[in-house]
Amino acid sequence: MGIPDRALKRLEDAVGSDNVYTDDAVLYAYSWDSGSLPLLSILSRRFRFTPDVVVRARSVSDVVEVLKVANDEKIPVTPRGAGTSLSGNCIPTKGGILLDLTPMNSIKEVSPDDRLAVVEPGVVHRRLEEELEEHGVFFPPEPGSADMCTVGGMIANNASGVRACKYGSTRDWVLSLKVALPNGSVINTGCRALKTASGYNLTQLFVGSEGTLGVIVEATIKVMPKPESRALIVAGYSSIDDAVKSAQRILRRVTPSSLELVTKRYVETMNKVMPSLKYPYSEAVIMVEVDGFKGEVEDSVKAVVEVCRHQSPESLEVYRDERDIEELWHARHYAGFIILRMFERQELRIKAVHIHDVGLPLSKVLEYLKFAEREASKLGISVLPFGHLGDGNLHVNWYAEPSSEVELKSAIKLTKKLVEKAIELGGTVSAEHGVGALRAPYMELQHGESLRYMKELKRIFDPNGIMNPGKLWTEGDDRDFLEKLLESLH
Ligand SMILES: Cc1cc2nc3c(=O)[nH]c(=O)nc-3n(C[C@H](O)[C@H](O)[C@H](O)COP(=O)(O)OP(=O)(O)OC[C@H]3O[C@@H](n4cnc5c(N)ncnc54)[C@H](O)[C@@H]3O)c2cc1C
Repeated sequence: MGIPDRALKRLEDAVGSDNVYTDDAVLYAYSWDSGSLPLLSILSRRFRFTPDVVVRARSVSDVVEVLKVANDEKIPVTPRGAGTSLSGNCIPTKGGILLDLTPMNSIKEVSPDDRLAVVEPGVVHRRLEEELEEHGVFFPPEPGSADMCTVGGMIANNASGVRACKYGSTRDWVLSLKVALPNGSVINTGCRALKTASGYNLTQLFVGSEGTLGVIVEATIKVMPKPESRALIVAGYSSIDDAVKSAQRILRRVTPSSLELVTKRYVETMNKVMPSLKYPYSEAVIMVEVDGFKGEVEDSVKAVVEVCRHQSPESLEVYRDERDIEELWHARHYAGFIILRMFERQELRIKAVHIHDVGLPLSKVLEYLKFAEREASKLGISVLPFGHLGDGNLHVNWYAEPSSEVELKSAIKLTKKLVEKAIELGGTVSAEHGVGALRAPYMELQHGESLRYMKELKRIFDPNGIMNPGKLWTEGDDRDFLEKLLESLH
């Protein structure tokens, strides 16, 4: 869009010229998120997503001043943490100001007695975890990107991860927020008490709002005592059917902290990239983690092993050594990206990937996986599913050869089918990565009439529509990026 010189001058006066960047290299670096790399890179050769200016915020007052300028001048603002989103959540699709919150990264308080911590938005999850560990507590939501992502980004995306099965998503661990609004005011939502029945829940409104309402400048999060012990049960099955059925039986008997599905291609790739790994070479593998006091863990291990055996696994191992458990999880967290390493080495032909993260009622998981397999094979596309079986969150990712227009067109058609089916089965277009720009076209289908009320709420907080426009839903000349890609292929 281009921003006026007077606005640029105001920004420099407000936060200091050394925190305002307009050089091409910096703008380019901030035009991506992690989902962009494998997919939108194809798009971005055709469409520009670069901001006009990058501002690094170091304090609440920096954020307030930037928002005031943006609101006066009606310039879009895209808040950004570590940029690890996978749905184009923090790419500046309308240009304008990219507001980098990573310099605001202090852990202001850890209070095990009150079971809470107070943090700035730019704190990286792993650093928070290490600090909390010294106090004997932990913050259970842990996305696969925990080494990089910020707490602000987690809250804004309502991120979760392998532990959501038992502990829920980020949403369940936020007590209160300090939020800077486009009009320059700063509001506090919620309180430090562990429960409250007082008024509308504005805290939860901002959780998952993806930077479309205001900027989170401080968060009070819940923490809890770290479980004394954990064990990981890894079972390999000769079919996805058996693996899912086994998982469903486990969930009827125990509440594991994690219950994951990993399919053959990932296993082969992970074992190849990390030769010390011990994943079994089966068609489908489930990873079941149980935690708690030692006695509880052993009781749960016994129950899980018994249930797993019922479905005749090809292999069954119980890991209690922390190093083994960590290594297996580490590979699982980066499974999708490890596959991309193989592409780089040209060991796999296919390159473009689209990461789905639909959520389903638990009883519909198998039906959905079969549907995906059927539709993908009709269209001649490879899908490599894995996901969080414990809460019905599946990553049925497609991989396509970017130079093949025919293959890309089929893959994009498949995306539509996969999303529509998830919604038809009572599920969601996104269980953890958020809507961003990529899922925005499906919000009408997902929410129907209630989308109108979401739009009304946005108008209250952001009447000029400056906050991360083009995300959460499509409007005006906004279009489905995948549709655009299809058109550009004609
Ligand atoms: C390898 C890998 C594994 C992943 N695994 C998981 C997983 O297991 N589970 C999961 O849920 N996600 C996962 N993700 C996605 C992503 O990491 C998470 O959504 C993460 O929480 C995003 O944090 P971030 O700091 O990178 O935020 P960003 O990507 O920078 O931003 C996310 C959104 O929040 C907004 N935002 C950022 N900061 C603020 C703020 N202070 N105020 C208001 N809005 C703000 C942005 O505008 C954007 O809409 C994974 C990503 C990768 C690359």
